[in-house]
Amino acid sequence: MERKGPILVVEDEDDIRNLVVHQLQREGLTTLAAATGLQALEIARRTPPALIILDLMLPGLPGTEVCRRLRAEPETRDVPIIILSARGEEIDRVVGFEVGADDYVTKPFSPRELVLRVRAVLRRGAPPVAEAPGPAGALEVGVLRVDEAAHRVFVKGEEAALTATEFKLLLTLMRRAGRVQSRAQLLQDVWDLPPDMYTRTVDTHMKRLREKLGAASGHIETVRGVGYRFSREPVEET
Ligand code: CA
Repeated sequence: MERKGPILVVEDEDDIRNLVVHQLQREGLTTLAAATGLQALEIARRTPPALIILDLMLPGLPGTEVCRRLRAEPETRDVPIIILSARGEEIDRVVGFEVGADDYVTKPFSPRELVLRVRAVLRRGAPPVAEAPGPAGALEVGVLRVDEAAHRVFVKGEEAALTATEFKLLLTLMRRAGRVQSRAQLLQDVWDLPPDMYTRTVDTHMKRLREKLGAASGHIETVRGVGYRFSREPVEET
């Protein structure tokens, strides 16, 4: 089930914007285009797009601010955003709670790869897992079932014995399904540790959690250089 509607491409460099628009149209997707952040906000309010491709380096209003404003308005709050960035070091902040993008592509990028990412985000575009059942109900995704109230996790009907931390980690990822969670953010939200602390804690726990989830471990995807993401469709790690 893909999200429907036009893809809004926000980029001030004409060559790149035209290239992206062209590639999306070749794939049969409809497009809208904006050269500035203000223009992008105006278009998005008028015609909420299925997805926004947003460059960070824009004249006037920067991409991070455009992203924040889109997230702050009810009409555009749930529209997935893929960030185009030339600067790798900003990525952690961009996909984190501070800015709230769904994915990112680093420049220079191949238009083909960008289209694959767009398709993937569109497929993940359904509402977050946690919004489907009641807050204390059971979350079910594929072979995985989480009884939130009882703190119990089942894989193919068999209980997986998770520690309290592993349970919290899994639940945090599931509630933010489809969104990349950086290590720093998980460290802060699950462990209550400062996000700038250097530690292997997150990776170590993630490894154990995946082992315990067995057949359901494919729902937790590693996003290289950033962190982890819970996907509704199991992903094969390479
Ligand atoms: Ca730019």
